[in-house]
Amino acid sequence: MENNCIFCKIVNGEIPCAKIYEDDDVLAFLDISQTTAGHTLVISKNHYDSFLSTPKEIMHKVMNVAQTIGQSQITNLHAKGVNILANCYPAAGQTVMHFHVHVIPRYENNDGLVIDFKENKLLGELSLPSIADSIKKSL
Ligand code: 5GP
Ligand code: ZN
Repeated sequence: MENNCIFCKIVNGEIPCAKIYEDDDVLAFLDISQTTAGHTLVISKNHYDSFLSTPKEIMHKVMNVAQTIGQSQITNLHAKGVNILANCYPAAGQTVMHFHVHVIPRYENNDGLVIDFKENKLLGELSLPSIADSIKKSL
């Protein structure tokens, strides 16, 4: 439990949520701001500041629940696709510093959410082998 962490308060029942799933380690509930209908957050019950700092065993449990919820969104909300997203640290858009995974159902045609992975032309020429080598250093 981290002081002033909104998700710790949800885990403790101090703040209400639309709960979807709970076990000893994992809690899932609807995001208060629905980007599409059914947008769900899957979180660790213990406080870790992001996906990157969560013990792998807990991260695996959270991802396992995220997969099942995604499957349910397809079956029961009739979503046609799902985005799985973990923002890590403010530079990546993380606003709540308690590990969570977004499971966002996607609907046919224009469902109002735009995630744009187009190539960034401002980057210019990049050496992919050299970038790959840098990342590989810690693997
Ligand atoms: P982030 O930007 O950190 O990846 O995502 C945090 C998410 O938490 C946001 O999508 C935001 O809408 C959601 N959120 C923030 N406060 C609350 C809350 O009190 N209840 C619920 N259910 N979601 C919240
Ligand atoms: Zn917390």
